[in-house]
Amino acid sequence: MSSTVKNVDSLSFAGKKALVRVDFNVPLNEDFTVSDDTRIQAAVPSIKKILNDGGSAILMSHLGRPKGGPEEKYSLKHIISAVEAALGTPVQFSSDCIGAEAESKAAALKAGEVLLLENLRFYKEEEKGDKDFAGKLAKLGDVYVNDAFGTAHRAHASTAVIAEFFKEKVAGYLMESELTNADKVLGNPERPYTAIMGGAKIADKILIIERLLDVVDNLIIGGGMSYTFAKAQGGSIGNSLLEADKMDFVLELMEKAKAKGVNLILPLDTVIADDFSNTANQGMANSGEIPDGWMGLDIGPKTRELFGKTILESKTVLWNGPMGVFEMESFDKGTKAIAEYVAEATRNGAFSLIGGGDSAAAVNKFGYTDQVSYVSTGGGALLEHMEGKVLPGVAALAE
Ligand code: AMP
Repeated sequence: MSSTVKNVDSLSFAGKKALVRVDFNVPLNEDFTVSDDTRIQAAVPSIKKILNDGGSAILMSHLGRPKGGPEEKYSLKHIISAVEAALGTPVQFSSDCIGAEAESKAAALKAGEVLLLENLRFYKEEEKGDKDFAGKLAKLGDVYVNDAFGTAHRAHASTAVIAEFFKEKVAGYLMESELTNADKVLGNPERPYTAIMGGAKIADKILIIERLLDVVDNLIIGGGMSYTFAKAQGGSIGNSLLEADKMDFVLELMEKAKAKGVNLILPLDTVIADDFSNTANQGMANSGEIPDGWMGLDIGPKTRELFGKTILESKTVLWNGPMGVFEMESFDKGTKAIAEYVAEATRNGAFSLIGGGDSAAAVNKFGYTDQVSYVSTGGGALLEHMEGKVLPGVAALAE
């Protein structure tokens, strides 16, 4: 982690009220119970450190994408019991993140107590990075802790602007370990270094893919984005995902990879379906030979083996994006197989970092979380950090 950024261990929180930006943007079931509390669990160590020191914690987060005003379905009150269960302590709630209720509840907090504030994004000022709004939040605490790596790439009021109101501002354990683990693949990674990119869209990942070309030995491309590669090379891809405006980029990328000596590995075969549905008719096709009316929804068995061989030879592995539509059981085998290969490489001594978002969800779903070196909680934040961009949430903590 940046030497100018301190973590929670550098402070004693005794007698202090810590205002903690967490990422509790958790998925909810239809009955508003939390369906996956990974993000809540990830913030527990920092919160416990504060409470064990004899401090109190005021937790603030966003949830979902409200349109700038209160919306019942995005209320953080739905997650109170999940936070209580994760912390093993009662959690108070303020139905407004700023103003009289938040101020009086924060002022009354005693050592060891926890207060959760209502969704920050019920105010449009949050995402605008409004200074007055940040100041109103800042009033609630004595010290500022940012443990929300998932939003560290945003210069929002609670993630960045707020820091200027505090003399004591530190990173939480999650933020610190995210940066430390990302730096392991950014700094001087052990070789061979293999990056596996998948998922739906090339457009979101152009910068990271270009950056990776400068550092990796092998670049594996799977998932929906691989069909644009097949098409750009003159193949037939039926109704598979295509980013027609990225075909030139893809061809240039292939040239660049060659020039830089990077081994660019593309799928050999693909599982095809006649509909985007778990119960669609299925078949198999070579890459670039998908019949009309069919679409590629997963990598095929030859590709799994090809990718696997490279993964097993690697000493550093970065994986971002699923190999197919892993949410549907009929098309999850490619993603599962890659998770297994990454786990095996890890058992053999490789360092493996799973980028957040859907790859993290896939690794969790298939039960490989404990078999890889690190699963990041931050999709966009991790990618931007790896692209070499300064994360506003981290920069704001620097002294
Ligand atoms: P991303 O957010 O770009 O990492 O994309 C993740 C999404 O890509 C997941 O929801 C996958 O279901 C989807 N995906 C992966 N492969 C394919 C494919 N071949 N066709 C359509 N969607 C895909």
